[in-house]
Amino acid sequence: MIAPRFPSVPLAALDQLWFQVSGTVCNLRCRHCFISCSPDNHSFWFMTREMVRSALEESAGMDVKEYYFTGGEPFMNTEMEGILEDTLAFGPATVLTNATLFPPRRVAALRDVQDRSAHVLTFRVSIDGYSPETNDPIRGEGTFERAMEGVGNLVAAGFRPIITAMQSWPCEEMACTLRAFRNALESVGYDEPRLKILPPLLIGEEARRNRGYQPCERVTHEMLHGYDLDQLLCSRARLVTASGVYACPILLDYPSARLADKLSEAVTIDAPLAEAACYTCYTNGAICSNATTGVESTVSAAETGGCDAAATRCGTEPAECDASTGATGRRDRTAAAPA
Ligand code: SF4
Ligand code: SF4
Repeated sequence: MIAPRFPSVPLAALDQLWFQVSGTVCNLRCRHCFISCSPDNHSFWFMTREMVRSALEESAGMDVKEYYFTGGEPFMNTEMEGILEDTLAFGPATVLTNATLFPPRRVAALRDVQDRSAHVLTFRVSIDGYSPETNDPIRGEGTFERAMEGVGNLVAAGFRPIITAMQSWPCEEMACTLRAFRNALESVGYDEPRLKILPPLLIGEEARRNRGYQPCERVTHEMLHGYDLDQLLCSRARLVTASGVYACPILLDYPSARLADKLSEAVTIDAPLAEAACYTCYTNGAICSNATTGVESTVSAAETGGCDAAATRCGTEPAECDASTGATGRRDRTAAAPA
């Protein structure tokens, strides 16, 4: 039998159920957005509260450990607070947000939603630099101040958001950059912040801003021999959208990742690793989960030994392609921990 061209990954368990709750609509237009979201990208439209509720009911009995909401900007969806209220009846929820739509009135409503549930509501806030000078060239003018104000409002209401940043700085600047993030967050009242640094996904706007994948940056059958498939989100998650169910939240723009109309069918279909972005998951581990492992120790090392003291894992350098075989020089990185 001829092996399929791409490897694929079975779903081991549905630990995470993701919702593309605001489609591709966002109030920002970031220069690194890997699904090119913007105010006028209507490729995927909002999910209604009823659509989400239907998928939640379908997921009951599938042993989902956490529900995730992404977009676009989830709070562009006017039903978001009700959607979270429904979701917290099923399990913990995490919302990925740019935190620019968090006036005190909305944060108070979210606090109320949290207080009425036994399950935890978490926010993951994207900020890509520790100052307007380092953040705004990527996310847009004024976004640093607006996001920090949103973080301050969340913290004042008792939330401890996870701050995520795409690594756009050289590896040798990692420790100092993390320390600067921590100082900036402390200035809005967020002590001991939770930080998560993500590798760039070289698709969408980021492929234009930075670079695309090289031909050798693909996951092959051979590369999966002995590899821990739990490192790949698609072995533990599915993404529900207004237009079908996908293997993961990274490959929204790729028809190869659309598995089925309904969740119950999508959980029975293997995720094809057909796209170059799978290579970033392969080399960097479960980049979409909430884990922040490694960052805290890097910050502490910088504080006790100076900025150069903290050795850190960096995953942003291009692979060294062997032109004669098409092989990549980064196959030894299979056991990388989550960023
Ligand atoms: S990166 Fe996030 S905040 Fe920026 S345009 Fe994309 S979805 Fe919106
Ligand atoms: S992008 Fe990552 S999570 Fe998505 S199918 Fe590829 S390996 Fe799996």
